[in-house]
Amino acid sequence: MMIVLIGPPGAGKGTQGKRLAEKHGLKQLSTGDMLRAEVAAGTDLGKKAQSFIDSGNLVPDDVIVDMISGRIAQDDCRSGVIFDGFPRTVDQAKALDKMLTEKKRPLSAVIELTVDIKELVNRLQTRVAQMKAAGQPIRTDDNEQTLINRLKVYREQTAPILPYYKDRGMLKAVDGMASIGEVSVAIDAILVDSDLKSQCQVSGKR
Ligand code: ADP
Repeated sequence: MMIVLIGPPGAGKGTQGKRLAEKHGLKQLSTGDMLRAEVAAGTDLGKKAQSFIDSGNLVPDDVIVDMISGRIAQDDCRSGVIFDGFPRTVDQAKALDKMLTEKKRPLSAVIELTVDIKELVNRLQTRVAQMKAAGQPIRTDDNEQTLINRLKVYREQTAPILPYYKDRGMLKAVDGMASIGEVSVAIDAILVDSDLKSQCQVSGKR
């Protein structure tokens, strides 16, 4: 199964991606986590990405597409992938389609987590407070000013991928304001449905 999770910062992609990965034995690929690991390791890629991340802007498409295409070729992605934070532009969505078509592993579902923008700022503040209390490091882009830019970037550059997938009949929306458990149940229902549909398509071809 290849699944894309889409939603603004703080929508719960990371939380849901982790649960889905554990439940279905899939690999969760968060481009944000991958980039932060590159920054922490001081690689060339990390150095290139740092200023984009810190300002809340997108890292250039070619950098991201190269990083993902190398990663999904690895063994641990064989049973399937949950893309969390990728694609984030229409060009990235097109590049993903091309990669998956070449691998004959089409997307099973594209799931949008819908949220109330005002709630996102509260969620972020809670997340930062919890991390501080736990003595954990705070992400360099988890401050109010950068969050406002991340939301603007989402609206302007990422939201256009919603009609891209909708036109292809792939987009399913889930209310990301519901509880973590309720969101998981709603996502699972979508996955069962898309799994059944793909099985029907396979048997129809026989
Ligand atoms: P969030 O969804 O909370 O904004 P992420 O951890 O997904 O955060 O991403 C953090 C930052 O990493 C983004 O603001 C951006 O700079 C960079 N980034 C992550 N994924 C991508 C992507 N697919 N394309 C371009 N930049 C990305």
